[in-house]
Amino acid sequence: MKENVLKQKLNDFMAKVIAKNPGEVEFHQAVKEVVESLIPYIEEHPKYKEAKILERMTEPERTIIFRVPWLDDKGEIQINRGFRVQFNSAIGPYKGGLRLHPTVNLSILKFLGFEQVFKNSLTTLPMGGGKGGSDFDPKGKSDNEVMRFCQSFMTELVKYIGPDTDIPAGDIGTGGREIGYLFGQYKRLKQEFTGVLTGKGLNWGGSLVRPEATGYGNVYFANEMLKTKGESFEGKTVLISGSGNVAQYATKKATQLGGKVVTLSDSSGFIYDPDGIDEEKLEYVFYLKNTKRGRIKEYAEKYGVEYYEGQRPWGIKCDIALPCATQNEINGEEAETLVKNGCFCVGEGANMPSTPEAVEVFLKNKILYSPGKASNAGGVSVSGLEMTQNSMRLPWSAEEVDKKLHDIMKSIHSTCVKYGKEKDGFVNYLKGANIGGFVKVADAMLDQGAV
Ligand code: NDP
Repeated sequence: MKENVLKQKLNDFMAKVIAKNPGEVEFHQAVKEVVESLIPYIEEHPKYKEAKILERMTEPERTIIFRVPWLDDKGEIQINRGFRVQFNSAIGPYKGGLRLHPTVNLSILKFLGFEQVFKNSLTTLPMGGGKGGSDFDPKGKSDNEVMRFCQSFMTELVKYIGPDTDIPAGDIGTGGREIGYLFGQYKRLKQEFTGVLTGKGLNWGGSLVRPEATGYGNVYFANEMLKTKGESFEGKTVLISGSGNVAQYATKKATQLGGKVVTLSDSSGFIYDPDGIDEEKLEYVFYLKNTKRGRIKEYAEKYGVEYYEGQRPWGIKCDIALPCATQNEINGEEAETLVKNGCFCVGEGANMPSTPEAVEVFLKNKILYSPGKASNAGGVSVSGLEMTQNSMRLPWSAEEVDKKLHDIMKSIHSTCVKYGKEKDGFVNYLKGANIGGFVKVADAMLDQGAV
């Protein structure tokens, strides 16, 4: 079909999505990115068009919005808004994280829930897609305040989740501490000990390698991409953004594979350590971010390196970039700078960290570029493995889980190559992930009728 006809179909489809979901710009962005890859495929496979699969997949099965009142340490009542978007359950119960961040709104959670459907499908595990969270900001709150918020949040959420229905996990602002408080309250209310949340503590149902999984998985995926060019992490300069869960373990694995990670960031700025963030310095980052809950600026003060207030790291020369903070953190101009400076591999650890303009730059220059829905799927994969271990009531060793994670990332890479390889041999991983993730869900929806 001609290029301009396909473009018109995309525009018509997007016009309907925008009219139905006004103002939800992140959701529009995520849908457009997927639908752009899918429309040509669907034209060649009319069964999906006839069954209006795309129209159904862009409408969440259910959206729950609720009030979360809690008492702060001064005894004052605070009110936040809670959400759970149950997007698609065609191939398994809803699965996806809970984000706690002041920027959280329905648009962001719908974009994340939509992406999650494709990501979970790619993992090869039977998981549907969902996402939730709140505009609550855990930063600067005491442990008791975080606990009271989590208990109030779960008091409402409990009505909609369960180990065979919807299994939330962590995301930005939701780490082991928050999962613990949420799980404790679920257990009190339901009087049952089940695998209703993942990312649990090791001595109460958690899986080994779950904390590491997203960051490690991202590096495993990047390594698979590098191998297609006869390359590896050995001796490469690596930029990483963020300094939370994903960034920390991406740094650890990239360093183990011989890479030199020279940047980390948070929402206030980035640090540049030209000697590399070695094991000892990374231990300090773990302490700084997970225990002290401080700012990345303190790394620069401790090690005497440069700190760039209010900036992002993409102007530093590198071979590989692993964005691991948040959505839309690389714009078109920054993408141009990366490519100009010799960066030839971008592996997304965060969800949708590259703007559409940035993605265009990566694809135009034919560098190795993997979208988050493929390369950050390691987290939800090990969450899926945590669910399996909970159902069996039997834990696996770290080696077993890590091997399964590695195999899953390789399988996702193969799926992307299968659906994304173009005539000239270039692998468009974005297209590959979108089509590869779509087919399994769409076929399940066809099997299940008009639901
Ligand atoms: P964390 O909360 O542990 O860390 C988030 C990091 O990103 C922090 O350094 C934070 O800085 C920074 N950040 C957050 N918001 C912004 C912003 N608006 N601008 C600049 N920096 C920001 O979260 P995770 O590491 O778990 O998540 C990071 C990304 O990875 C997210 O996109 C998430 O959806 C994605 N992801 C996470 C998975 C997981 O298993 N944890 C699984 C798959 C994807 P600050 O402290 O200043 O806010």
